[in-house]
Amino acid sequence: MHSDHINGDLAAVLLTDDQIQARLAEVAAQVDADYEGRDLLLVGVLKGAVIVMADFMRHLRSHVSTDWMAVSSYGSGTTSSGVVRILKDLDIDLVDCDVLIVEDILDTGLTLSWLMNNLRSRGPASVEVFTFLRKPEAVQVPITPRYVGFDIPNEFVVGYGLDYAERYRNLREVAVLRPEVYGH
Ligand code: 5GP
Repeated sequence: MHSDHINGDLAAVLLTDDQIQARLAEVAAQVDADYEGRDLLLVGVLKGAVIVMADFMRHLRSHVSTDWMAVSSYGSGTTSSGVVRILKDLDIDLVDCDVLIVEDILDTGLTLSWLMNNLRSRGPASVEVFTFLRKPEAVQVPITPRYVGFDIPNEFVVGYGLDYAERYRNLREVAVLRPEVYGH
């Protein structure tokens, strides 16, 4: 789905398909260089990271393995509490693995900080993070993603894997919805 197809729903397109692909190629080149000669495991966080994972891994020139986790943050509505439940765990044993977590967006960072601690407790060689998007609030958390796709304003965004009520994940761009879509 392209923004032209749902123009009436969108207040603004923040990132175009071309901008996204160009940036993913840059990040992939950096990751290829940083992990040269090592076996990298990409861990995608479902469901938001599905699209970025699919595109990002194809920009890489090195071999990688992939695995997925699904987590749910306890909390009401849009507020995350930092207490996380594993809905789907990894299939792969992490002992001595170089792990790169691929996340859709870093907002408060509570989910990611929990996830990093959880994966680090499994004996990997290293755990780093690539977050496709990062919001300003994320500066308050004690995690520094090694790779960041884009820093974006503090607005609720959809598209490129990110949903509102499970819709818009298949939008090619990253966009801000019109307030009417939320029923405001
Ligand atoms: P955190 O624990 O960093 O606050 O939560 C991050 C999670 O909140 C993301 O994985 C995503 O599911 C959700 N989230 C945070 N900001 C946005 C946003 O702007 N749009 C969407 N669709 N989800 C968001």
